[in-house]
Amino acid sequence: MLPRERAEKILTLHAAGWSVRAIADQLGHSQVTIRNYINGHRKPGTPAPRPSLLTDPLADYCRQRLVDDPHLRPSRLFKEVADLGFQGSRATFYRALDSRVLPLVDRRKPKSPEGIPQTPVGTSRAFPHRYERIPVLPRRVSPITGETLSSYLGRIVQANHLTTAEVLAVLHPWFSTKIKNPDDRAQHHTLAPAAAQALHELAHLASLPPASLAHALPAFGSAEGPVRATTACHRCTARRSIHQSVPVHLPVHHKICTRHGIWLGDLGEAHLDLSTCPEITTAQHRADRLLRRFTPRQLALAHQIAAKAVPSWPTSPAAVRNHWKYRLLALQTHNHHRGISTDLDSYTQAAIYPDVVALAAEALAHNFRIPARSTGEIRQVVEHGNL
Ligand SMILES: [Zn+2]
Repeated sequence: MLPRERAEKILTLHAAGWSVRAIADQLGHSQVTIRNYINGHRKPGTPAPRPSLLTDPLADYCRQRLVDDPHLRPSRLFKEVADLGFQGSRATFYRALDSRVLPLVDRRKPKSPEGIPQTPVGTSRAFPHRYERIPVLPRRVSPITGETLSSYLGRIVQANHLTTAEVLAVLHPWFSTKIKNPDDRAQHHTLAPAAAQALHELAHLASLPPASLAHALPAFGSAEGPVRATTACHRCTARRSIHQSVPVHLPVHHKICTRHGIWLGDLGEAHLDLSTCPEITTAQHRADRLLRRFTPRQLALAHQIAAKAVPSWPTSPAAVRNHWKYRLLALQTHNHHRGISTDLDSYTQAAIYPDVVALAAEALAHNFRIPARSTGEIRQVVEHGNL
């Protein structure tokens, strides 16, 4: 709970017409906390009636994960927050998810229903060497790292002037079932036994080593840490003569193609050219280096905490030149010339990224708290004690 005067300040600012976000930025508390006081779920000076064990930073983490990865299963999310120190039971977590996280998540795509099992493939017996009777396609198509199975099959079909039905007819039924599921990463137990057989069939058909397919395609279970849905860098794909956008799942911290200086926004958002702000691309290298000492989940949580702590305005006149709003303007101007709308969320995310990575490093070094001196103003980012 917040000190009484601080909680009263929230109500005063709200009454004065401030938005939740502006109050959160000003006072350094999460938007959830601000809303709790504004909506009367919490009263100044009284403790929260039933304290949830899901702290605000963890709730923010969950919200961002569900935005990044619209098909993420709650059971998997539970494992992630448990890994980050959440001590509550699964039931407590699901309750908190329902009441505090899901109402605020704007998911771009409907989530696949958790309770509906996929159609079983009918058999778990292997067909020894069956794949050797599968034709070898004349045109070889290499997968893009993180590519969805349906995108990859679509490109194989297109390059070889076939139809999807023709290709599916020669492959194990595993493929038909798999591409029907909007989340092809789900390793349902009825499908798992046939996965190895399926992998070898596809490798034979495409004339590629099974290991490279398994490594590139998350449908074969390669994605380990938290991932987000986006599209592959359009310059990387253009080099391989692919001119359509390729949906991929990339590790959550992977925001930028560092080879081309391209910001890979959320799925469906245009890529941003970062050439006017090379420090953004440099920050991606810095984030990558943090993974030598911290897990991808820890980095994702620190990123969430840091993004809220980035000051909205320069803290001194000397800081104006380096402030992220300068970068924002430079990015918008440059990309607008490339014909990209200036009202994408990606611009702000990209502009604050160097600050976020710097503050995330501080948060990781200080048990998910950002020392006040780091942002140049007093900010107590984590309000409720340890995570
Ligand atoms: Zn690239």
